[in-house]
Amino acid sequence: MTVHFPFQNSYAALPDNFFARVAPTPVAAPRLIKLNRPLAAELGLDPAELETPEGAEILAGKSVPEGAEPIAMAYAGHQFGHFVPQLGDGRAILLGEVVDRNGVRRDIQLKGSGPTPFSRRGDGRAALGPVLREYVVSEAMAALGIPTTRSLAAVVTGEQVYRGTALPGAVLTRVATSHIRVGTFQYFAARQDTDAVRQLADHVISRHYPDLAGTERPYHALLDAVIARQATLIASWLLIGFIHGVMNTDNSSVSGETIDYGPCAFMDGYDPKQVFSSIDEFGRYAFANQPRIAMWNLTRFAECLLPLFGDDKDQAVKQAEAALDGFAAQFTAAHQAGLRRKLGLFTERDGDQPLAQALFDVMAAAKADFTLTFRGLSEAAGSGDASEVRALFEEPTDFDEWVPRWQQRLAEEPQTPAERRAAMRKVNPAFIPRNHRIEAVITAAVENDDYKPFEELHAVLANPYDDQPEFAAYAEPPQPDERVLQTFCGT
Ligand code: AMP
Ligand code: MG
Ligand code: MG
Repeated sequence: MTVHFPFQNSYAALPDNFFARVAPTPVAAPRLIKLNRPLAAELGLDPAELETPEGAEILAGKSVPEGAEPIAMAYAGHQFGHFVPQLGDGRAILLGEVVDRNGVRRDIQLKGSGPTPFSRRGDGRAALGPVLREYVVSEAMAALGIPTTRSLAAVVTGEQVYRGTALPGAVLTRVATSHIRVGTFQYFAARQDTDAVRQLADHVISRHYPDLAGTERPYHALLDAVIARQATLIASWLLIGFIHGVMNTDNSSVSGETIDYGPCAFMDGYDPKQVFSSIDEFGRYAFANQPRIAMWNLTRFAECLLPLFGDDKDQAVKQAEAALDGFAAQFTAAHQAGLRRKLGLFTERDGDQPLAQALFDVMAAAKADFTLTFRGLSEAAGSGDASEVRALFEEPTDFDEWVPRWQQRLAEEPQTPAERRAAMRKVNPAFIPRNHRIEAVITAAVENDDYKPFEELHAVLANPYDDQPEFAAYAEPPQPDERVLQTFCGT
């Protein structure tokens, strides 16, 4: 059986300095761990073909399908605030692009498929644990309704990778509307290659923001559009308790998708200063810092576009600053609208923001579970009885003061309790990919070649807003001895 990929590549047609042509490095014994059948179908691929031995070979980089033009993309980036003029795909290879069933162009990329000219000292490989982590979390994010890269497949390579110790090697097939990052723009801007910046901007406009093509000031509009997408993206992270962990400019997508699931994590107990990443020593990428960091990254993006804004440099800077000023307002609007939905409010009133903030203060003081608090409030809105969610607060005095404030505000709206509950349950998930569950999935796979925990966690997270009583344990926060305190860069 031949495996058909209906490739229609566009990035590989850009100038040579945009990428390096490089084939995946063959591996010993590919074995398919997981295929995302619905996503395969959406991409116009045949799941049955991908499930053959030949399919596994392609997904492991052992053979290259017809029509692929494998490349490693060039990019730069600020890592923890320090500029690195050349990063690039060091362990990822873009096979090509397909136009999916909805007419959307999607990248199909292998992550962990061997070294590239951008690997520096890295081995170009990925370990099984981080591959499973990215698979679970990215698909959970998609099911939660958050823009994200997707996972098409996970394969083990039959080879070992060394990360202090020998671990099973794996390859993730990642799907994105594109892999173009703020760092991609920085790569050319740092080389003062304005023609390349313009070509890249034109490519991004035609691919992600086609309505802007042919408008009067397309590059200004591009900046506005990327700012708008990042503002809503970061708001959606904060509304669900997600911490990206490594918001470097090379991990910031111009399409507005969440990209690069390394040390990312969902918080259990609410703490605005929460950091999980082992390398984020100073909390640069802490939960509540994410909007500020997005703004910082967008400022770097704006700097790249300045030469496209016209010959008057002062005016260009002023225009960029005006655009960047829009970020705070857009983020706040998206965040506050989301908070109102989480609290069951259908209208907007002056006191809503303080009401939400008061809840967060109470939650932070108690380190109350973020997800269970809001899910519990959804039920309380229906029943009028907040005693179950109250149990999440060890010392409930402040919570007890907050509840009547909230209930009073709810009573100002005409919706019935049942309507409120139903609306809240659509935005307050029961299930998130909790760290301790992911760790358990990884341990079972790495130590015992057992993928049942992976399959089960993945299945539960496919319907995060449903109760799924038979899987109620997955909604629970970790026991003290199960708590994961640190996550590590997915290498
Ligand atoms: P990340 O921390 O995943 O955003 O990656 C930062 C840079 O390091 C990118 O250029 C990656 O391609 C590169 N990189 C990460 N891990 C490896 C690896 N195992 N081998 C080669 N390059 C890597
Ligand atoms: Mg990265
Ligand atoms: Mg990474």
